[in-house]
Amino acid sequence: MKIIIYSSLFIFLTLIACESKPPSNKEGKTLSGNQNSKKKIIDLSHSYSDKTIYWVTAQEFKLDTVFKGQTDKGYYYSANNFTSAEHGGTHIDAPIHFSKNGKTVDEIPLQKLIGKAIKIDISEKTVNNPDYLISIQDFKDWEDKEGIAIPDGSIVLLQTDFSKYYNDKVKYLGTDKRGESAVKLLHFPGLSPEAAKWLVEKRTINAIGIDTPSIDYGQSEYFKSHVTLLSQNIPAFENLMNLDKLPLKGFEIIALPMKIKGGSGAPLRIIAILNE
Ligand SMILES: [Zn+2]
Repeated sequence: MKIIIYSSLFIFLTLIACESKPPSNKEGKTLSGNQNSKKKIIDLSHSYSDKTIYWVTAQEFKLDTVFKGQTDKGYYYSANNFTSAEHGGTHIDAPIHFSKNGKTVDEIPLQKLIGKAIKIDISEKTVNNPDYLISIQDFKDWEDKEGIAIPDGSIVLLQTDFSKYYNDKVKYLGTDKRGESAVKLLHFPGLSPEAAKWLVEKRTINAIGIDTPSIDYGQSEYFKSHVTLLSQNIPAFENLMNLDKLPLKGFEIIALPMKIKGGSGAPLRIIAILNE
């Protein structure tokens, strides 16, 4: 039922976007429907290009032109081929990425990818500490401030503000080197294994997302937060952006990955919908 409601909302917003002249501002598109509803859409996805961030051992994005220009029949035509690792840019980790019996990307129920969301802002703690580990206390602080527990079924987004370094690999990843030897040079914040355990044991969340290359921090060796979350079929969104434009609660997420049959992850288009 929820799916039907959210799909209707999505279709409704799409129709409004197509049929009216929506005013926009710098932060996102503002859509005015009837007199009572005003929604703002924030794009949380980086675009794919030769600047896209990939894990240091993964195949990067490549776009090859098949044809671009005027054909001899008189019409214009443009088409490309692209190649890419599953895990790069704004993407989803499907449960099977770190869990043998976990769901593949095409099997993730859409109910987990569409719905109400909250944001934990730990950006102040990462300013001078690229190895910051988001703690259980960070979640408890959010709950104290908001006066509620993290609502069941939430999509939880973690804002480190590292997305502002996305175009500078040394700052974003900790290194601009590539290959196996670069793995130990990675430095960026992530979710502590203890906090991941707390989230799956004490709370009931649908999905998690972060504005760094990985849900585990750069210096992680065993990827314990991945294992803990993905083993519980909680998918993770990585390399998000624009989290600074979201409130701490009271918004919705639509996160639709490419439906790769058997995929361990996939490029992800993720948006937030805010009530103005
Ligand atoms: Zn990934």
